[in-house]
Amino acid sequence: MFLTITTTGTTERPATDLGHLLHKHPDKAQAFSTSYGTAHVLYPEARPERCTAALLLEVDAVALVRRGKGRGGAPDAALAQYVNDRPYAASSLLAVALSSVFSSALRGVCHARPELPGQPRPLRIEVPALPARGGAGLVRRLFEPLGWTVTAEPVPLDGEYPEWGDSRYVRLTLEADTLTLTEALRHLYVLLPVLDDAKHYWVAPDEVDKLLRVGEGWLPGHPEQKLITSRYLSRRWSLTRKALERLELVRLAEADDSEVEDIDNAVGAETEDEEKPTPLAVQRREAILTALRASGATRVLDLGCGQGQLVQALLKDVRFTEIVGVDVSVRALTIAARRLKLDRMGERQASRVQLVQGSLAYTDSRLKGYDAAVLSEVVEHLDLPRLPALEYAVFGAARPRTVLVTTPNVEYNVRWESLPAGRVRHGDHRFEWTREEFRTWAGAVAERHRYAVEFMPVGPDDPEVGPPTQMAVFTLNDTRDGRAEKEAKAA
Ligand code: SAH
Repeated sequence: MFLTITTTGTTERPATDLGHLLHKHPDKAQAFSTSYGTAHVLYPEARPERCTAALLLEVDAVALVRRGKGRGGAPDAALAQYVNDRPYAASSLLAVALSSVFSSALRGVCHARPELPGQPRPLRIEVPALPARGGAGLVRRLFEPLGWTVTAEPVPLDGEYPEWGDSRYVRLTLEADTLTLTEALRHLYVLLPVLDDAKHYWVAPDEVDKLLRVGEGWLPGHPEQKLITSRYLSRRWSLTRKALERLELVRLAEADDSEVEDIDNAVGAETEDEEKPTPLAVQRREAILTALRASGATRVLDLGCGQGQLVQALLKDVRFTEIVGVDVSVRALTIAARRLKLDRMGERQASRVQLVQGSLAYTDSRLKGYDAAVLSEVVEHLDLPRLPALEYAVFGAARPRTVLVTTPNVEYNVRWESLPAGRVRHGDHRFEWTREEFRTWAGAVAERHRYAVEFMPVGPDDPEVGPPTQMAVFTLNDTRDGRAEKEAKAA
């Protein structure tokens, strides 16, 4: 099984720098013994204009079986232990060889020329036989988002009998000008075994750390992050969940720093400080806090609290004596708990906050008796037919004095250059309303449940299309409920 890495160069930046980067001299052919055979590194071509390094792994199939880690199969398939694709198909074995032979390059270290690893250079990587479970389409979905131009040609089962169809192997070529060699090796190190989908070794818990280390900078936020993680960890669900949770935290930390990942967060108001507009998510939280303070609420529900940003903001204001975050997603709540450092919180702070798992599509007696409830960017995550159930659970059953609902104003989407026409802002949005549609819904809800409703813009209120976020403030009419409450208090 083998793989070649080719780069081109100029007199100032000769292609033969590849030798420095890989810590392997272009004039020598070298051999390294690994647990599964011998790895050879040689340079078929080494000129300043063009240089190719080849990694060839001679797998000792017999040793592989003796080590008890071959792919094996049923006992009666004993022959398959010896006659299989291991010797030539690029797999997890090649990934392991890559990491042991090119360990410095994988870490991005070059003692002789410390500046080299950080520099992108033209790269072309070829893998003649890549087992690709998921086919050429998956190969593209894995590499293209990372900046590679991908050619993945299916390899016929038998060249002489094309009618037999294609094998599960592809001939892979990757090309890019914008990546560093370290990035390239890290992509291969993770994605070769992902495509092979059959690790030759037992996946231990420390593989999660390894994956996060090697995936740094490209795995968080990769559109196939879930598939990559689960296959890399050989579908060990507990490890996969752990890894995904940590990837999400990384993504969040990055988003917190720049708040540009999310289109909502990227959009700012026309503030005086033109340099750094306030992210819309921050403006939304401010608007909610202002409305809550104005309502006089002290005991507040954050319904669909997600990862706890609003709960965190509420905790900073001592007037809010009881704060309950509710979400249907355990994962979101786990991240919220970490964000709030619930486990390290002092007793007094801890007595003010609770995170509760529950669905807003069902009435829940735990939600009764609060001053206010916030539904921030939540209603659009429910299928329209489920909305009456949420309406009843919140306005009919829980019935707080004040309810704040925010939701995107779809009319504003045309103002976002990065949003293709007709697309919603977030993959999970089941709908996005115009101002008219939101007012109609909110008006009917208020009517049905005896609330008064007012509307407020959040973010720049565009004269034509309105603000990016719309907010409705519902206040319970001081009728039977109000009187009953007062009577109860007086009694
Ligand atoms: N309120 C947060 C999060 C909005 S994302 C914010 O403004 O940033 C929408 C959240 O609603 C998600 O965390 C999702 O898990 C939650 N959600 C969706 N449907 C729900 C339901 N039926 N019950 C409870 N939470 C729900």
